[in-house]
Amino acid sequence: MRILGGNDLPRYTYRCDVCGESFEIFHSISEKLTDCECGEENSLKRIPSLPFRVSAKPNKIKAGTLVKEYIEDVKKEVRETKQNMSKGVDDA
Ligand SMILES: [Zn+2]
Repeated sequence: MRILGGNDLPRYTYRCDVCGESFEIFHSISEKLTDCECGEENSLKRIPSLPFRVSAKPNKIKAGTLVKEYIEDVKKEVRETKQNMSKGVDDA
């Protein structure tokens, strides 16, 4: 199990007021980072709104991909069914 990163956890963007570095970190909603990797304490500010947009996007892509795959499967099945049907007609 990974501590940072993962699909189940929301992604948060932090920015350090001291060194200007920004981070994208996966962690649970109850957690909050305050200390930057540069050694500064309480310098990290969570950038709002972005996590929600970012977390909503992959879900949409995933759902769309699944639908597309499903449609492709159905198309394939229909094509095969038609082939079988025309074959049946030819034989008859
Ligand atoms: Zn920093």
